[in-house]
Amino acid sequence: MKALVYDGPNKVSVKDVPDARIERPNDAVIRVTSTNICGSDLHMYEGRTDMEEGRVLGHENLGQVVEVGDAVESVKVGQWVCLPFNVSCGYCKNCERGLTGACLSLNPGTAGAAYGFSGMGPFEGGQAEYLRVPHADFNCLQLPEDAQEKEADYVMLSDIFPTGYHATEMACVQPGESVVIYGAGPVGLMATLSAFLRGASKVIVVDRFADRLALAEQIGAITVDFSKKDAVEQVLHHTDGQGADKGCECVGYQAHDPQGEEQPNVTMNSLVATVRATGKIGVVGVFVPEDPKAKDKLERKGQIAFDWGQFWMKGLQLGTGQANVKAYNRRLCELIRVGKAKPSFIVSHELPLDDATEAYKNFNERKKGWTKVILKPASVRTTRPERKMAGAGSKSK
Ligand code: NAD
Ligand code: ZN
Repeated sequence: MKALVYDGPNKVSVKDVPDARIERPNDAVIRVTSTNICGSDLHMYEGRTDMEEGRVLGHENLGQVVEVGDAVESVKVGQWVCLPFNVSCGYCKNCERGLTGACLSLNPGTAGAAYGFSGMGPFEGGQAEYLRVPHADFNCLQLPEDAQEKEADYVMLSDIFPTGYHATEMACVQPGESVVIYGAGPVGLMATLSAFLRGASKVIVVDRFADRLALAEQIGAITVDFSKKDAVEQVLHHTDGQGADKGCECVGYQAHDPQGEEQPNVTMNSLVATVRATGKIGVVGVFVPEDPKAKDKLERKGQIAFDWGQFWMKGLQLGTGQANVKAYNRRLCELIRVGKAKPSFIVSHELPLDDATEAYKNFNERKKGWTKVILKPASVRTTRPERKMAGAGSKSK
């Protein structure tokens, strides 16, 4: 099958790789019809992680089931499914509590597994014609009848819509509150949408890219361009000098200063300065335990100079980590089905998998107008190749 392979820093290419197949009786294989490029892919693309060369990227996947293992009960061939980026078992101590982003079974020695991700287990990504889905009954979100019609909306349930929602959940956004969101990338825009869905009265979104801020404005946010004037000053101006009730970090360790130089602590300290005393902050932007290629000395050891004294004095609270997609995807799916949420408003490009190399380059440069890319592997080849099944039994079409 064809798949997008990581070839080393700033290099990806579409290659022939071994077909995804049933490896265990509770696996399913899907034909991938939509698979997004994510800001998280860019950390790997830029060579800022220890991603192994030759691995297939892609953790935001939607498609049609083409084969299921003998132990799969609920998922059927032909169904349209969206897969949470976290691969999880459903029975460990964390999964039992709904914390599937920190599954203890599938990436032993650490918490949390994902498709096509550095340090998150052996699972190949879905920027490919086919994808193996472990623990299929637990991991497949079976989509409603309008799955194909609203495919560009439903594919956002794989990661960024639940992740944006998770930021607002950790910040406990309540009806009538004001929220400040750092980052107007796909995740920040989904946090903006989620804050409005939860009844926020005012959402202030900070970034320096006009096209991204325009999308935030389109759904009702007040926008702040931090390259024009200090972000903290502007947010305080919009919140009567008090700061917002709640805050979301949707940027992560590769946060920039106004000139575009990396400054890993800038968003965290801006949040401390612009969330009012006793407020809560949800951090979904990724921070890493070590980052040997960073310019910043502290960042190399996964540390930041954090305004802890101010944070403590204001009695602020903080939530962090990978989103537990399964905790929200079914409910957010229902909002899409009934027309109350349309996360596809951020999509700028839908491209065949063959165009992925160019798409990565443009999205990585945050080139104007490249806000979210959906790759469409099925447009490369729609018929399924014949192949031998190894190991576990399987039922196929
Ligand atoms: P992205 O890179 O497309 O967007 C990040 C945005 O932040 C950019 O538009 C950039 O201009 C902006 N930015 C940079 N410095 C800033 C600053 N100082 N102030 C305000 N904005 C600033 O990425 P994305 O896809 O939106 O993802 C955002 C983050 O969320 C990434 O770190 C990604 O890895 C992470 N993520 C986390 C989870 C999770 O489960 N926790 C899931 C998906 C993505
Ligand atoms: Zn993602």
